[in-house]
Amino acid sequence: MTDTMQTSTDVTTAAVASIALKRKVVTAIPGPASQALHARRAKVVSTGVATTLPIYIDRAHGSILVDVDGNQILDFGAGIGVTTVGHTADRVVAAAQRQLADLTHTLFTITPYPEYVQVAELLAQHTPGAWEKHSVLVNSGAEAVENGVKIARKFTGRRAVAVLDHAYHGRTNLTMAMNFRAHPYATGFGPLAGDVYHVPNSYPYRDGLSGAEAATRTIDYLEKIVGVADLACLVIEPIQGECGFIVPADGYLPTLQQWCTDTGVVMIADEIQSGIARTGRYFASEHFNWEPDLVLTAKAIAGGLPLAAVTGRAEIMDAAQSGGLGGTFGGNPVACAAAVAVFDTIAADNLLAEADRIGARLTAGLRDLASRSDIIGEVRGRGAMVAAELVQPGTGATTKEPNAAAVSKLIAHAASHGVLLLSAGTWGNVLRFLPSLVMSNELVDDGLEVLRDGFATL
Ligand SMILES: *Cc1c(COP(=O)(O)O)cnc(C)c1O
Repeated sequence: MTDTMQTSTDVTTAAVASIALKRKVVTAIPGPASQALHARRAKVVSTGVATTLPIYIDRAHGSILVDVDGNQILDFGAGIGVTTVGHTADRVVAAAQRQLADLTHTLFTITPYPEYVQVAELLAQHTPGAWEKHSVLVNSGAEAVENGVKIARKFTGRRAVAVLDHAYHGRTNLTMAMNFRAHPYATGFGPLAGDVYHVPNSYPYRDGLSGAEAATRTIDYLEKIVGVADLACLVIEPIQGECGFIVPADGYLPTLQQWCTDTGVVMIADEIQSGIARTGRYFASEHFNWEPDLVLTAKAIAGGLPLAAVTGRAEIMDAAQSGGLGGTFGGNPVACAAAVAVFDTIAADNLLAEADRIGARLTAGLRDLASRSDIIGEVRGRGAMVAAELVQPGTGATTKEPNAAAVSKLIAHAASHGVLLLSAGTWGNVLRFLPSLVMSNELVDDGLEVLRDGFATL
């Protein structure tokens, strides 16, 4: 099925369509049915797989999760920025259902199909930069990072990889080595991949540096400690996700890109969390006038189906030899059809503007809270990627001592009132908000009200 623009919305199941889009708490959270499932899980699921909130979800729509006890949870996590177009978004469900029945799998490297090409066309169109771009589709964010590094190494003939302090890039062997936090992501899982160097980032709230000053520090480190001759790529999240939605100072990213261009280093944007309309632009790089050589996407690209990509300058992408890239499930037709529907939805429903609407409302609410609380050190973000960094009382103007305990208490308070909030931050002291872009003003306000009550209990 190639005519994916012709989306029908009548296939949404009756159970999902019947969800009244509001928060509703009908049992203790977790309720008895969730607790029973959690006991079953403990007998068969590895404890290495963590659980933020042990409620088991039966169905979902928009920004509302319905658990097996009938509680309706207001979702500020969106599966960590995956269901950006909303849970069970109509066009995504319709496109995936149609594609599932038409063609589920061939393996693109054996016999191709049109949806893979459509996704590559959309990525070429929407990623920053006016040059010719080629893509490879894979299954997960970490796999996209691995492939980006492979391609950069082949193109440059160099082996070293540089990443920023406070970065997060995944849980595979190479990406474990690329994360700032070894714990919990790599503890006991070594030996890790070599040739990975960690260099200082731009963290205006904590380093007080301008973009130019921070870039000078990063470049100095790259030149003196890593060495350019061996450096294949510099991999950067334009807004650092897991470590606390760290927004770099203006000028930082374009200055590094210029340095990379001058020195023959491939600069790679990890837009896995920040990309696909999340920040009110298709890609967060656009906020910083950054046009990366390669862009990595995953999470939100297919509305909840597993899909990821490396997209970038054709001459770099084509350095890989035929047969060197790919994988059995990479660019699966159902995931690709869903991705095309995601891009359709962003355009048709004007979701870039919706991200700004939600972000402005959330940010205003959080700033209002901050004006009455001395533990909110900074409210920051772009579009609907918003965070509040919490510090110990009275340290906001001085040492900015991280306050993870307050974050835990606020998240627990929110959960018990049917609001799913996530933490982030190297020190666990950041509240992060990744609402779907279909969240109404009423639901944003409802979440803020619960949070306000939470602050009052601290
Ligand atoms: C989630 C994430 C990854 C890893 O993606 P997976 O699909 O979990 O492998 C990599 N980089 C960033 C910035 C992420 O947020």
